[in-house]
Amino acid sequence: MKHLISLFLLFISFSIYAQNGPKILISVDMEGLAGAVTDAQLGPGGFEYERFRTFMTNEALAAIKGAKSAGAGEILVADSHGNGQNLLIEKFPDDIEIIRSWPRRFHMMAGIDESIDGVMLIGYHASTNNKKGVRAHTFSSARLTDVKINGQSMSEGTWGAIVAGHFGAPIILVTGDNIATQEVKDFTGDVEEVVVKEALSFHSAKTMTPNAAVKLIQAASERAVRRIKDFKPYEISTPVTLDVSFKHYRPTEALDYLPVFERTNSHTIRYVGKDMTEVADVFEFLMEYSSYLEP
Ligand SMILES: [Zn+2]
Repeated sequence: MKHLISLFLLFISFSIYAQNGPKILISVDMEGLAGAVTDAQLGPGGFEYERFRTFMTNEALAAIKGAKSAGAGEILVADSHGNGQNLLIEKFPDDIEIIRSWPRRFHMMAGIDESIDGVMLIGYHASTNNKKGVRAHTFSSARLTDVKINGQSMSEGTWGAIVAGHFGAPIILVTGDNIATQEVKDFTGDVEEVVVKEALSFHSAKTMTPNAAVKLIQAASERAVRRIKDFKPYEISTPVTLDVSFKHYRPTEALDYLPVFERTNSHTIRYVGKDMTEVADVFEFLMEYSSYLEP
């Protein structure tokens, strides 16, 4: 009887899948857009910011278009840069929902849960530990110098792969400069990618045009959803050790008063959680609270 019930549930889930297509989460950052190289493109007040909001929106729309043409079902978009209010929401199709602003559970991966079948990382950048990469940083260039999971330095993309992996979803597409996409590929293995620019330095790149990037992203997104079964969710061993190194001295000093943290050196605290969701929640707290302290 038990077997019959599980068979029936399997059948139901397959029919829902076939009916609606895979559910996709698209997390969109800005530093890895075609053309983005400095602050001038990346925040309110930058002389090119308003135009780059349009380019960011267009890269996200291209991913949506590609995914839909490959039969994707529900698509959720997470605006994951700066103030989290960059995407021009009125430009999106009526059936798309957009996650905006902070704080929010799972940060750049907000929206992830067991119902998501694949994740796309659009406009992503390299980690702060990489010697190369346009605007290379990990979650906060002003506050953090390293974020490690189980002893391995993370990029925002590889962190996302672990969070998504916890819920059984693989990263299926990553776009950004050549360094950012390579970091994710090296970590997750097979993944569709679009390199929209070649990093020349922290503030320089040889870039393709926004229109050229959009065409490639749409095609790659379509390929990624068509072969979504090829990609494997990233799995890590538990318990999960989180090491966060702060740029300034005081956050670690203050956090050391909490018995849940171990101060492993002057600038680093360690937290051991039962799984990645617990670690991600602690990290969200750190981003919203202690990491805002000045020296
Ligand atoms: Zn960003």
